[in-house]
Amino acid sequence: MTAATQPAPEVEFSIGKLTFRQAFQRGFRLRCPACSRGKLFRNWFQMHGCCSNCRFSYERPAGYFLGSTYINYGCTASLTTVTYVILLFGFGVARERLLPIALAFCVIFPLVFFRFARSLWLSLDCYFDRAGASEAMSGAGSIESRSEVTDKL
Ligand SMILES: [Zn+2]
Repeated sequence: MTAATQPAPEVEFSIGKLTFRQAFQRGFRLRCPACSRGKLFRNWFQMHGCCSNCRFSYERPAGYFLGSTYINYGCTASLTTVTYVILLFGFGVARERLLPIALAFCVIFPLVFFRFARSLWLSLDCYFDRAGASEAMSGAGSIESRSEVTDKL
């Protein structure tokens, strides 16, 4: 109860001390970038509105998470290209066998990596834009009150 009512100073301190390595680890573990305890996703594609531990808001303006597609695309293209080249030239696997596998990988991997790309985007954004992350923390109360209002309606 006390962690939910007065988390702001500790979390702002945590974001202020957030290192690149911590941001990357929290992003890759699908955890809150502020406290590393709360889960980001409630299921495969849906995020929580805020952290269950520190109330850090995960809600962002429309189009914010479009940037995560860059991470997802970059990882998919890099992995596909490197694997294709290694298997084709290093191990002599026939191109006819590689193409269907590479195509299947290009369809399946982005779906699996979707959550990680979003989480990494949010965590790295908190690392590079600490002022924006602090605003998300200060807006947690308003999000909570908004959900209370919508619950009453
Ligand atoms: Zn948190």
